[in-house]
Amino acid sequence: MKVNDTFKYIDTHVHLYDEAFDCDFEETLQRIKDAGVGYCIFPAIDRENYERQTECAKKCGGFAFEAIGLHPTSVGANWKEELDFVKERLEAGKGTYVAVGEIGLDGYWSREFMEEQKIAFREQLLWAKEYGLPVIVHVRDAIEEVFEVLDSMGASDVKGVFHAFSGSYETYCRLKKYGDIKIGIGGVVTYKNAGIAKVLEKIPLEDVLLETDAPWLTPVPYRGKRNESTYLEVIAAKIAQIKGCTIEEVAKITTENAMVLFGIGK
Ligand SMILES: [Zn+2]
Repeated sequence: MKVNDTFKYIDTHVHLYDEAFDCDFEETLQRIKDAGVGYCIFPAIDRENYERQTECAKKCGGFAFEAIGLHPTSVGANWKEELDFVKERLEAGKGTYVAVGEIGLDGYWSREFMEEQKIAFREQLLWAKEYGLPVIVHVRDAIEEVFEVLDSMGASDVKGVFHAFSGSYETYCRLKKYGDIKIGIGGVVTYKNAGIAKVLEKIPLEDVLLETDAPWLTPVPYRGKRNESTYLEVIAAKIAQIKGCTIEEVAKITTENAMVLFGIGK
């Protein structure tokens, strides 16, 4: 694949296949490209959303890359069938996915299936390794349980990103012990009193990926509107301000990080 040398950004986490984009998909896609975004990555959620995801990726052509995985908030009574589907897709779609994700643990929405979430997380971490793919991890109110799972596996060579990272610097340092871990930074960094802005001062840009998580988590000053990858520029500007460097440096380093982690543009 040929890398277009005019692009600046990669949105490493965007749900462009969400219904929120149905009304003006083509215009939005054009606007995103015009804003200097060269590629984007679609994290998977579950079987119900997969068809939309893969159809949308097709429509985007070489612009979009897909991940496959079972999102922790979709781990419910039918979790086994959901996991079987992920495994099936991984096997059938060898070479088409750039990551296993979103996987992880979520204790915010519900803890009812926390034990099953842990099993699903562990299983998918193992598949990522088996298929040589990085992981996209979602954690909310469950970081201790994440460490518990990683410890139980004796994990030391995990490769992936903790998306929408909102942890402390200590959490970041602890995570780094489990392998090549990047953190995904999105719109939240622009929010007033966002803890992550302070934490980011100490985290090297070499460990940062840019993401929007669109249509959610819209950055300031667009808060209240639907989020889209177009706003990566705003996120990069905020990071540049925090790190005391230029937007170009943020763009260059984080894009390189994403290309290496997901094997894009080679
Ligand atoms: Zn997401």
